[in-house]
Amino acid sequence: MNPELLRNKKTGTKFIHAGAEPDPTTGAIMTPIYQTSTYVQAGPAQHKGYEYARSQNPTRAALETALAVIENGKFGLAFSSGVAATDAVIKLLAPGDEVICANDMYGGTYRLFTKVFEKFGIKFKYVDTTHPENVSAALTPNSKLIWIETPTNPLMNITDIAAIAAISKQAGTILCVDNTFASPYLQNPLDLGADIVMHSSTKYLGGHSDVIQGALIMNDQSLKDQLYFIQKSCGAVPGPFDCFLVLRGIKTLHVRMKAHCENGKIVAHYLRNHPKVDKVFWCGFEDHHNYEIAKKQMKDFGGMLSFTLKDDSVEAATKVLTNTKVFSLAESLGGVESLINHPASMTHASIPREERIKNGLTDGLIRLSIGIEDAEDLVDDLKNAIG
Ligand SMILES: *Cc1c(COP(=O)(O)O)cnc(C)c1O
Repeated sequence: MNPELLRNKKTGTKFIHAGAEPDPTTGAIMTPIYQTSTYVQAGPAQHKGYEYARSQNPTRAALETALAVIENGKFGLAFSSGVAATDAVIKLLAPGDEVICANDMYGGTYRLFTKVFEKFGIKFKYVDTTHPENVSAALTPNSKLIWIETPTNPLMNITDIAAIAAISKQAGTILCVDNTFASPYLQNPLDLGADIVMHSSTKYLGGHSDVIQGALIMNDQSLKDQLYFIQKSCGAVPGPFDCFLVLRGIKTLHVRMKAHCENGKIVAHYLRNHPKVDKVFWCGFEDHHNYEIAKKQMKDFGGMLSFTLKDDSVEAATKVLTNTKVFSLAESLGGVESLINHPASMTHASIPREERIKNGLTDGLIRLSIGIEDAEDLVDDLKNAIG
């Protein structure tokens, strides 16, 4: 359906029809997988807008239109992974530029910043972005980019996107929000003043744990032109089959997210009342320190949560991690099936222990990606594993 017509439609209608136009040659209702590397030209430089598949591919183009629609943006760009999308954003910068970023974010983002880009002379300042004044205090004339993630992984901290956007606008920096955990169903950062939204499409957008992919969505034409130039010049593009999978995933995003949220709420309350559980990190609790902001900027509270046992040792956590039967012990999140994860040794192992613990990510922390199975089975499984 035409993206302009979709703008005023409700979320579910948008997700189902975004990027989907019947194939002009056959009428196929689903976008074909254009498995081709190049396109025939009628004469030199006479083509139909498609020259070489690193630069353009019709399946990818349909997905990129869909990405823009679902995040209420003008432009979408698809990348071969979430970190490739992040990589493209940092390549907007030059040596000497400074980035202000959250001190509690995806381990792979931290690794990319510290281990790859610092040596190119880009400076990263890590601050607690849940207090916007920390971002203001970190600004210098060299600040070019603010990078936030909300809710954060795995501690479910909430940053006020509109407040940071106001600071960014005044400072003339670019604000990029990693919206992977919330998904466009729960939160739309561009509407709150962000310049770029980043997704690991691997997670909720794909939704079935069968694809690695990333996305950037923006409204500004010049930002889009620069990021498209980086996309085609650096070449981290997804293949057409993977684009097809994410296009298909997006069609059920609203249905899946509602179920993730419902199950997340049930599991969060179950764990909170469990005598062996110490803390539960879930942004839907009214006593969560940024509950009011979560309520203001998110439609619901999602399917991600973390918890610690009263015995916060690796041994006690390992017992739970290896005793679940419905939850599988694995990295990643956002699929229809439930996953259990040990951030300290798995997803966040690349963050030095001292740094980790300082930010509240203890050795015993357990992270859950709540799937859309029946809630009773999830609760039973945790009950048996915790003992
Ligand atoms: C998984 C993830 C990424 C990285 O995405 P990949 O698709 O694995 O490259 C970035 N941010 C968050 C919040 C993630 O969960």
